Order: sequence, then structure tokens, then C-alpha cells
Amino acid sequence: MALHVRGVLLPDDEVRDLWLVGDRVTFEPVHGAETVVDGGFVLPGLTDAHCHIGIARGGAPITSLDQARELARVDRDAGVLAIRDAGSPYPYPELDDEPDLPRLARAGRHVAPPKRYLRDIGVEVGAGEVAATVAEQAGAGNGWVKLVGDWIDRGIGDLAPAWDEETMTAAVEAAHAAGARAAVHTFSESAVEIMVRAGVDSVEHGTGLSLDLIDLMARQGTALVPTMINIRTFGGIADQARAKFPGYADHMLALRDRFPEVVRSAYEAGVPIYVGTDAGGGIDHGLAAEEMLLLHEQAGLAPVDVLAAASWRAREWLGFPGLVEGGLADLTVYPEDPRRDLRIVRTPARIILRGHILR
Ligand SMILES: [Zn+2]
Repeated sequence: MALHVRGVLLPDDEVRDLWLVGDRVTFEPVHGAETVVDGGFVLPGLTDAHCHIGIARGGAPITSLDQARELARVDRDAGVLAIRDAGSPYPYPELDDEPDLPRLARAGRHVAPPKRYLRDIGVEVGAGEVAATVAEQAGAGNGWVKLVGDWIDRGIGDLAPAWDEETMTAAVEAAHAAGARAAVHTFSESAVEIMVRAGVDSVEHGTGLSLDLIDLMARQGTALVPTMINIRTFGGIADQARAKFPGYADHMLALRDRFPEVVRSAYEAGVPIYVGTDAGGGIDHGLAAEEMLLLHEQAGLAPVDVLAAASWRAREWLGFPGLVEGGLADLTVYPEDPRRDLRIVRTPARIILRGHILR
């Protein structure tokens, strides 16, 4: 049975008709289709381009596929129909085509420096093993690898790059040679500089970006996934660290405070920005709408650009075509125009995933 949908397909303004046949979209009328949407504003679903469904609340790796399913469903029920998992300690390739779960773009495990990163989450390797490990983790994911570009170095009491420039550059090359795109976690100024110059595909967080690097990202087409929700937790991180590592604590607060300006500059320079919450561990799933509101309110993205960053453009970036001829049969419908008031994205009136009506 084909489904018929009529509504305003954002970002256009006209009411249009489309049909869902199995898991595909067509604009060719299908005779006898059931009309399941008549009115409202239609998106190809939201995307969370940085979260972790392999990390349980509290930060430990999940231990079963069911836990991953449960976390992915929290996002799905908030209208997130595509996810990029930015590093999972627990492999779940079995879930890629599961009918009631969002589309999944997955990195393998985080590739991290020894004894510095979150416990039990990454594969921790010294400089000599980074490139080979990246190639291996490219095989564990389905198109992405995740590098931990920096973390606290307790010896120096501040953020520091995970490895030297040569190693990090070789890591990005190894990812590309293995057919994967590379995403890198960076908070500090020094690590993000090395990684952007090394040609990484997406900068995660990127609190240490300078205007020069932002220009370079715009020219290269390097993406930024700011995870503003995560950066708001830096105050708590600084409080916990202050007694032992006051320099680190001050650095984290300074990075936090300048971040809305960094994202605003990246937006104005034309850097491709995508919505990511960093859910998993310390941050709840289902908050894509809140990240969207932060990008608008704190970093000044226009609502239509926030919608692009969370929806059609993000899906295109991840390889999940949206509401185009032959695209995938995912959509969310809102009763009001989210360009007028973004808050409506918190409450999708209808959710259709892989051609199935979920709400
Ligand atoms: Zn993350």
C-alpha cells in the first residue's frame, strides 16, 4: 500500500504531493494510495550528526544490542530519523537495516591516546599504531572513523594534542585510504589546527577554532558539528578538575565562553554546520531540537539554516537522500512553520520512518 502525503515541503513554500512506495519517495502520483498527511510542514526527519548509542547513561559501554535499540528509539521518537554515531565501544552493524530504527551512519571505536581518554570507550594506541588502528576501525564502522584529537594531559595539567602532527596527518590519510571519512574530537586550539590542516572531514566541538582555521574549513568544505549542548557542560567539568588542574579548568571555561562567537563566525564564513547533541554518557538522547534552538539563539543561525543543518542538508551529507525523487521514505510533519518558530520541532505531529507510520 502506497502512502500519499500533502504538505509544504521545506524549504520551499508551496504545497506539494508526494507518495511513499515501500522505502522510497516518488512525485509520480500512485493510484489508490492512502492519504496519511494533509497539511502542515514536512521535513525528511531530523538528524543527530553526533551522538553515541553504544554508550550507556553514565558513560559505560552498552552490553547488548537491545540497549542500542532503546537509545536510538529515544532519538527516533523525537523526530530524529538519521543518526551519525561518532564512536561506539560496542559494535552493532546488525542494526543498520532494522525497520523501526533511524538510519545509521557509524564510526567504529574512538581511536584515542593511551591512558588519557574516557575509560573503556576508545581503542588506545601510541603514535606508531594509529594509522593501522584507524584502518581497522574504518572496517568496524560503515563510512566514518573517529579520532580523539586532544584530551587532558595530566602531566602538563591542560588539554594537549593526542599525537604529533605527522601521526595525525597519517591517521586522516589512513581513514581516506580505507574509504572512510574522518571525524575528530577537538577542544583545544592546537589540536584543531593540526587536524583541519590534515584534511579531516568533520570537526567535532571545535571550541579552539581561530578565524584563520574557519576560513580554511570554508575553503576545504570541512564540516563543523558544534554540539553546543556538550559545551554547556564545561562548567561542571572545570569545577571537578579545578583542585588538581586549575589551568585546565580555566582553559575549559574560556573555550566555553567564546564558543557561541566561534560558531557564529563559522556560520558567517560558510562552513557546513550540522546538528549534533553528543548524547550518550553524560547527555540524554532526544535533544536534537534543543541543539537546534541553541544554534539559533546563541550562534545566530537563521531558522531555515538550522533546519538545513538538522535535516535535508545533514541527510545529504551522510548519504541518506531525503524528500527527492527516489529518496528514502522518512519524514516528520509539523503543524506550524518551524521557520517562524523553531520550537515546533520539539513536537512532530507525524513521524514516518522507512515508509511506516510511527506517529
Ligand atoms: Zn561524542
